[in-house]
Amino acid sequence: MNLLSLSTTLLLVLFQRHTVGKPLQGTQASNDTGESDLHQDDIVYRRRIQRSAMSCSGRCYWPKAPDGLVNIPVSISTEFSIEERLVILEAMQEFVTLTCIRFINYTSEYDYINIIPGNTCWSYFGKIGGRQHLGLAKHGCVYKGLIQHELNHALGFLHEHARSDRDEYVKINLEYVIAVNSTNLYLPYDYNSVMHYGAYDFSNTVGKPTIVPIPNKSVPIGQRVGLSNLDVKKINKLYGCNSCSTVLHSSSGILSSDNYPHPYPKNVTCLWLIRTAQEKVYLNFRDFDIQPSSNCTCDYVRIYDGNNRNAHVLIDRFCGIGQLPAVMASGNTILLEFVSDGDTTSTGFTAFYTHVKCGGTFTDASGAITSPEYPRRYPPNQACLWIISAPAGRRVRIFLTAAFFELEHIFGCRYDRLVLRDGGQRHSPLVGTFCGKMKIQSFISTGSFLRIEFYSDNMFEFSGFRLQYSIRTID
Ligand SMILES: [Zn+2]
Repeated sequence: MNLLSLSTTLLLVLFQRHTVGKPLQGTQASNDTGESDLHQDDIVYRRRIQRSAMSCSGRCYWPKAPDGLVNIPVSISTEFSIEERLVILEAMQEFVTLTCIRFINYTSEYDYINIIPGNTCWSYFGKIGGRQHLGLAKHGCVYKGLIQHELNHALGFLHEHARSDRDEYVKINLEYVIAVNSTNLYLPYDYNSVMHYGAYDFSNTVGKPTIVPIPNKSVPIGQRVGLSNLDVKKINKLYGCNSCSTVLHSSSGILSSDNYPHPYPKNVTCLWLIRTAQEKVYLNFRDFDIQPSSNCTCDYVRIYDGNNRNAHVLIDRFCGIGQLPAVMASGNTILLEFVSDGDTTSTGFTAFYTHVKCGGTFTDASGAITSPEYPRRYPPNQACLWIISAPAGRRVRIFLTAAFFELEHIFGCRYDRLVLRDGGQRHSPLVGTFCGKMKIQSFISTGSFLRIEFYSDNMFEFSGFRLQYSIRTID
């Protein structure tokens, strides 16, 4: 069974700065675990020290199966709690989603990764043959980016700041971090890599950085939030994956299907993982032209509320022209999947993403939407967006009523206000702008989407609102 087919409740993992892999003084680990062989970082080199990143003649890479997938058996120690195991599984999910690496449940394979609690976070470099441990200290290493960092070592990647061309990009104040004769896969230097150390890692003096980016000292380094776009590109290049994946990790940006505005490529499955620093991701399509087909069985877009295909689906199989609504994630990640078949002349899509404080996408058959902190007074300076999204392919109407409604009252509703649109787009037909006690009388949508916006200014807060909706099929 695929480890990752487990339906995982994604745990909200608070990111903490952590100096990866600093060997503890006086570590009493046995030789078997390899932890005692740690040198100046978190990598253990088997046999002889590999000074040549990504040039181990293929022997240290995990083999690719005829189906193009790289299956890596993994065993996770039962000494980890269920919560810790879920964090480890979620870290693996990003590899599985965006690359051809598949972490499978270890059964009796000869080569496999055995994840054990260690005194620190560490891994062997590449596949060493037979069982190879990967250490994750229960206190300090069980975080998504740290786990991905160690798994990347096991895939055959060294530290980004150790690559051969690093002196053009960073000044290293650590004599032991030796640049290595790496091939670098002809991909640019990546300050944002999960394999890059932070500026102050290993510093023995408060305020003295060990790594300084060139020429702009303030470029952030050392993130452990998740795989960067180039981390994913490198894995796909090193392992020759037939994957079409992009990671977007700015606070806002634009994405488009390949060749846009010319026809998109045939027979592709492409994924965009959007990961903003703060909740919640908001994605708004500007142009949308995907070859229509019955139930969108040919070409389609699907959007997940999370970082992998096991996450809740916000928009399922959507196609056609100019119809896709905006979507809001419940957290800081959204995964967009685009599939095309062998016959198309459509131009694809372009979309804008950013993050907002509050709101959500509702896909259940019925539900309630409330102002922030309802029934207490809503906070000042809010801008919220909710999308009610009925399943595609059915003729539906959305029935909306207000169970409670009280906002600041100003003629014209210029300050605190609720805006209702009959559709999912920013410019969908305006139903009305409401404030004061102007309760929305029941409203019925003309299509599959409703858009509700709420704004509060910096003074005079009230209890807000509670709206109820239900999606009903019409004949
Ligand atoms: Zn490392």
